[in-house]
Amino acid sequence: MIKLLLLVAYLLTVTAQLLLEWLNVRYRRRSGHPLPDLFTQGIDQLRLKRSEEYAAAKDQIGLVETLLGTMLTLMFIFGGLLPWYDRFISGLTDHFILHGLLFFGLLTLIQGVVGIPFSLYRNFVLEERFGFNRMGIRLWLSDMVKSLLIGALLLTLLIGGALWLVQAAPHSWWLWVWAFWAGLSLFLLLLSPYLIEPLFFTFKPLAKPELEDRVRSLLERAGVTAGKILQVDASRRSGHSNAYFTGIGKVKRVVLFDTLLEQLNDEELLAVLAHELGHWRCGHLRQRLIKGQIVALLSCFVAYSLLNAQILSGWFGFAELSFVGEALLLGWLAALLGFFWTPVSSWWSRQQERQADQFAIDLVGSGMPLATGLVTLARENLSNLFPHPLYAAVYYSHPAMIERVEWLQQRTPTGGSLSVEDGPAAD
Ligand SMILES: [Zn+2]
Repeated sequence: MIKLLLLVAYLLTVTAQLLLEWLNVRYRRRSGHPLPDLFTQGIDQLRLKRSEEYAAAKDQIGLVETLLGTMLTLMFIFGGLLPWYDRFISGLTDHFILHGLLFFGLLTLIQGVVGIPFSLYRNFVLEERFGFNRMGIRLWLSDMVKSLLIGALLLTLLIGGALWLVQAAPHSWWLWVWAFWAGLSLFLLLLSPYLIEPLFFTFKPLAKPELEDRVRSLLERAGVTAGKILQVDASRRSGHSNAYFTGIGKVKRVVLFDTLLEQLNDEELLAVLAHELGHWRCGHLRQRLIKGQIVALLSCFVAYSLLNAQILSGWFGFAELSFVGEALLLGWLAALLGFFWTPVSSWWSRQQERQADQFAIDLVGSGMPLATGLVTLARENLSNLFPHPLYAAVYYSHPAMIERVEWLQQRTPTGGSLSVEDGPAAD
């Protein structure tokens, strides 16, 4: 009975996702969306048509992926493959930790292999067709091998460590596992800019010496002392442009894609920087970390209670499953519930983006450079300018482009009609 309910719940969420996609496609295709002046200066009809084609191409491959994923999930969780797989791994070893590592390791590997054709198609067909791909097959391969090795190392650490704690502290492991994972993720956050990211990218100080003084004065006015402004060679892989901020304590950094530096003029670049500095000054990463850890602590406790009670295999109609088999079901349930959490977390993220935009307006004295920069960004990245409002409310981590630019303009008393030369992206 519970199994049936779970199956229905799963199929309903998949249907809801497909429905949202459908609404979004229909809305985008509807002609006659009004385009504000600032956009018409930089984006012509041809460009709009190109963005529509780009969005459609991404939708197609996304749909194939969703359908395949749903089919595999149905087979694995509801079609009886999971208990078979669990027994197969148990036949290889009866060592608790090794069993768990093999169980998740092999599954992750299969998932990775299934993902290979999609990754190849995305980079070398889709992105290539729209002129974004800059990667050769060698770089793609070396990226994949590196990710595989790093992934294997992290998986061994995370799963192996957690299973060791489960054995060592059978009555309080939820607290220890949480503390271990929290410590490890903090450690990775601090060290990834030095250990992991340099394996894929080269980070350099901003190659715009004429901007140096203005950047320094911007930092001073923003009250940011520690921290680095860097550019990254994203152009080796893709023509897409963006910017992001990361780090806590003394390792804070704002990273601008080199593609962004090519596309934006100086004023727009400073405005994007100001937006990223806003994220620091408003403590957004800290808030995100704290929220994440509270959720993680609660999840560990719920996981402990449910796994101790050994009721999950019964819910799914299986006679018996190993500890990690039940843990996998739990993860699947969490992902199912996560769908309902998506609109909340998107809304929350949009609030933070608004705050950072407001900070940028206050710092540079106008919303116009950020607005024109965003228009350029939309043009260069072939962004979808017309998402369905419901779709944007559920999934968008940033305010939809037109709404965001209009908001920036409204906050700028002079209103202005700056020409659109080049554009940024802002995380
Ligand atoms: Zn942002």
